[in-house]
Amino acid sequence: MTPIQIAIPTEAVNSAPMSSSLRNRGWMAYGLGIVLTSLYAIVYWRPETFGAPQTVWFWYSAVYTLVVCMFGVKKIIDYRNERYHMLRTVSLVTVQLLLAFILPNMLQHSGHGEFYFSYFWPLKPEYLFPSTLHPLIDSPDRLRVFMGWWSVIMLVVATPVLTYFYGKRWYCSWVCGCGALAETAGDSFRHLSSKGPLSWTIERWTIYPVLVIIIGITALLWYVDAHPDPALQLYADTANRIYGFVIGGLFSGVVGVGFYPILGSRVWCRFGCPMAALLGILQKYASRFRIETNQGQCISCGNCSTYCEMGIDVRSYAQEGKEIKRASCVGCGVCVSVCPRGVLRAS
Ligand code: SF4
Ligand code: SF4
Repeated sequence: MTPIQIAIPTEAVNSAPMSSSLRNRGWMAYGLGIVLTSLYAIVYWRPETFGAPQTVWFWYSAVYTLVVCMFGVKKIIDYRNERYHMLRTVSLVTVQLLLAFILPNMLQHSGHGEFYFSYFWPLKPEYLFPSTLHPLIDSPDRLRVFMGWWSVIMLVVATPVLTYFYGKRWYCSWVCGCGALAETAGDSFRHLSSKGPLSWTIERWTIYPVLVIIIGITALLWYVDAHPDPALQLYADTANRIYGFVIGGLFSGVVGVGFYPILGSRVWCRFGCPMAALLGILQKYASRFRIETNQGQCISCGNCSTYCEMGIDVRSYAQEGKEIKRASCVGCGVCVSVCPRGVLRAS
């Protein structure tokens, strides 16, 4: 059943009209999709088209950060009555600007090597590879030793603890650079995520295999590190290169961002991100986070489902008075904000 649109109680969502060609899969949306996918394909696979690859990647990162900052300001204005959304947007923009742009460039230029304190394995798989960890942890440079241990401790200690208390929102909605772009520039397209059961099935058949594959590649690389074998090393390196091309480039960039205007802003987070898969498993089975519903108050308007960027049919849970404890929920809190009856509560 198509959700009926009714007035939203606060200035809680993107202010641009949803019927516009850009936000409603019209010709403008397809045009933008083609431009974005083409640009991503060139930057990932033919950067020399625009100049020296190193320079192209610097400018790509600069433009990405600028877009997050500009649309972050827009989002804060759009959601100005919602403290939670303002705070998490400020967090996303700040992390992107400081930890994902300024600091990595400063580290590189000061001879410590580029490093992103806001990305962890398995989203940044090389941060747990022996070829990355050995040179960091064995380095005479104490800052590089800190980087190595930061990667390990954030994954092994901080991730389960923070996810236990806050669900995957601590990362997906407050820290991650992919989430930062989705929540700012992608906010206009959040309603485009498919809510059907087929999408949910596809989601589970794509995101968990990606996690399994990267666990396998990482394990193989550590095995070869402990038991050197040139044939196995070649096999592991090849698997890693293919993973980088298909998942790191094609899925996360070309499809993940290029398809914003067609499939919604969280295509990558929903169908491909191994970090989201890992956090989702922890959220479902080892976290206090859930969205509670108050069945008696629900008027079935469908606003919550419409604006869920992860394609969760929130309304169906609300109608049955069931709590929402879905692995895919990124805890954005927009379903809570757009409900005119105060049915939903994140806890
Ligand atoms: S269920 Fe609500 S909090 Fe979770 S992703 Fe959907 S809109 Fe965001
Ligand atoms: S939970 Fe709220 S937003 Fe969702 S269908 Fe019910 S009344 Fe509408």
